[in-house]
Amino acid sequence: MKYIDGFRNPGAAAALREDIQSLAAQLPPSDRTTNIMEICGSHTMAIARYGIRDIVPEPINLISGPGCPVCVTDAGYIDAAIELARRGITVVTFGDMLNVPGSDTSLAAVRSEGCPIEVCYSPLRALELAKETPDKEIVFLAIGFETTVAPSIAIIDQAIEQGIENLSILVAFKLVPPALAALGSDPELRIDAFICPAHVSAIIGADAYTPFTGEGGVPCVIAGFEPLDILLGLKGILTQLVNGVAEVDNQYSRVVTAKGNAKAQALMDKYLEPADVSWRGIGVIPLSGLALKEEWSHYDAEKRHDIEVQIGTMNPACRCGDVIKGISSPFDCPMFGKTCTPNHPFGPCMVSSEGSCAAYYKYSR
Ligand code: SF4
Repeated sequence: MKYIDGFRNPGAAAALREDIQSLAAQLPPSDRTTNIMEICGSHTMAIARYGIRDIVPEPINLISGPGCPVCVTDAGYIDAAIELARRGITVVTFGDMLNVPGSDTSLAAVRSEGCPIEVCYSPLRALELAKETPDKEIVFLAIGFETTVAPSIAIIDQAIEQGIENLSILVAFKLVPPALAALGSDPELRIDAFICPAHVSAIIGADAYTPFTGEGGVPCVIAGFEPLDILLGLKGILTQLVNGVAEVDNQYSRVVTAKGNAKAQALMDKYLEPADVSWRGIGVIPLSGLALKEEWSHYDAEKRHDIEVQIGTMNPACRCGDVIKGISSPFDCPMFGKTCTPNHPFGPCMVSSEGSCAAYYKYSR
């Protein structure tokens, strides 16, 4: 409890707010806003929950980027998972994926028709199911950023060790640094700084952001999820912008190291290799994902079950693509809070508990 109190101390928050206001007033004159993007769904929720967007002064513009792993998963991936379930293959997934729209329908809808779809809280459930039902094929929906890659791939490691043959994974892993490169070079966005994701950074390490800093780069600050973490991160970014520098600043050093988690990285290197992948709303970013290496294709659901993940189609009225990219706010979507709500979501940004539309709906209406 003391730990929580320490990171939510009102006096410290007020002092940081004053520092942020003072630094914002010292920013070089500009005819546009200072665009700071967070690329972690947990930061998106925390910024909305603690009202931080409301207390930062002009010209600071806090933008939510593609930090929600469910939201950036292409509709075509959902289509492939649905096809597997329709063939009678048991699909194991985290609950957030159930209501995400594919091109025509959702996993929840086909589950209600009787297709075998199991909701899990850990990838280990898929391994258990494979052991419990050796006569059935089990596919785990392996999505997410670097944070979730190692736990997902660990079930394949264990399956190999235990001689389990009826388990495979449908891979849609995404990597944060290539997304930063794509977003940072997008002239439409004009990103001035990144609040780097906390959990992902614990895996890849603070040094992973060095290529985005220095001459022509932008400040990259790693922040935790408590209110003071985020305010400290913003203060760090503004300090760099005022001083005209662009460095990696690890404000979450109680968790994140310079080199990251070597054990998780070794597991990823053993089984996976970089691949071009499609991000919902953004399109294909070169080498921005991970695929199973050829030698492990027995555990690759696409190859094992002869199915191809294709680019899906989205409801054209949903603006998730622009929201994920940071060029629109959920408020810009005419369906937000009217026809699209958490109970009746049209797009993944409203479905996912870490989606921008869900965060704005819950805390910012
Ligand atoms: S409010 Fe709904 S329809 Fe609009 S962008 Fe968000 S998820 Fe899509």
